[in-house]
Amino acid sequence: MELKVQQNVALSQFTTYRTGGPARFFSGARSWQEILGLREFAKLKGLPYLIIGGGSNVLFADEGYPGLVILNQMDKLQINGKNVTANSAVNLSKLVLLCAKHNLGGISGLALVPGSVGGAVYGNAGVPDVYISDVFMHAEILPEKSNKPLIVGPDYCKFAYRTSHFKKTKDIILSATFKLKPTPGAIIKTEINSYIKERTLKQPVGLTCGSFFKNPGQFPSAGWLIEQSGCKGMKVGGAQISEKHANWIMNTGKATTSDILSLAKQVYDRVDEKYSINLEPEVQIITDNPFLKT
Ligand SMILES: Cc1cc2nc3c(=O)[nH]c(=O)nc-3n(C[C@H](O)[C@H](O)[C@H](O)COP(=O)(O)OP(=O)(O)OC[C@H]3O[C@@H](n4cnc5c(N)ncnc54)[C@H](O)[C@@H]3O)c2cc1C
Repeated sequence: MELKVQQNVALSQFTTYRTGGPARFFSGARSWQEILGLREFAKLKGLPYLIIGGGSNVLFADEGYPGLVILNQMDKLQINGKNVTANSAVNLSKLVLLCAKHNLGGISGLALVPGSVGGAVYGNAGVPDVYISDVFMHAEILPEKSNKPLIVGPDYCKFAYRTSHFKKTKDIILSATFKLKPTPGAIIKTEINSYIKERTLKQPVGLTCGSFFKNPGQFPSAGWLIEQSGCKGMKVGGAQISEKHANWIMNTGKATTSDILSLAKQVYDRVDEKYSINLEPEVQIITDNPFLKT
């Protein structure tokens, strides 16, 4: 198998924030064997590696990434009765819409969550009334310390609000199988439309990663805390706190990762000062993390 590894590839084109410098090495991967080969390549060179899907929840440094970035391109999908197995690069919206065509529901709330199935399982993506873990049966992974794919269930994944065991490992999620609820397609369509309406009302449009910080608990939400701390509209360089939703930091066009992080740190400090609450970023920060307490 011949690996097509490129050098100095701009990561901004693969992230929804449109920020991030070049990856020292970069390659797409269409099979688990390619991922394995690429992982070996990085290990032999003693370099860090990272897999990305839709790039809708990552912030890469402006200086770039010093190792290998693997762009997941495994995107097959199979429906078997009520069960659906999706390769990890399958787009989440595509999964929801295809299931709807087959009268399989229970995940309408995920229709507008950008990114891949792999990214969704990694971060237990969801909206207040449905998380990917609600329908998750098992995943096939390439474990951090083994060259053989392995099937793992919910016990292994330890899903919780916006997190899973995968955040503590370097396991690579290859595919996931979900158990859906037989539901007439017309009902699913109505549900999706009402999510679209709600989102259009509440969420801004533009270059972003969605909510920057996790909600610290049921209430108050991160957005409420940030708004009450007077942060709406605040700017650093090309980064701005949305006027529509205070937990959304937007790239207004020319923001760098460093603009976004320094704005986020100001927000974090204000909320800490006013409410003594330390917000935790939801976005995966693949550079020096200003929020880690030393
Ligand atoms: C406009 C907008 C709205 C959003 N709304 C929501 C929302 O309502 N709910 C919500 O939960 N999220 C939301 N998000 C965040 C984002 O969509 C989710 O976190 C999504 O699941 C990330 O998937 P991805 O493929 O883009 O991951 P990426 O950004 O590519 O990667 C994120 C992390 O997952 C890891 N990862 C990705 N694929 C794999 C894999 N195959 N194996 C192992 N690790 C992997 C990466 O290494 C990285 O650490 C929103 C984002 C945007 C831009």
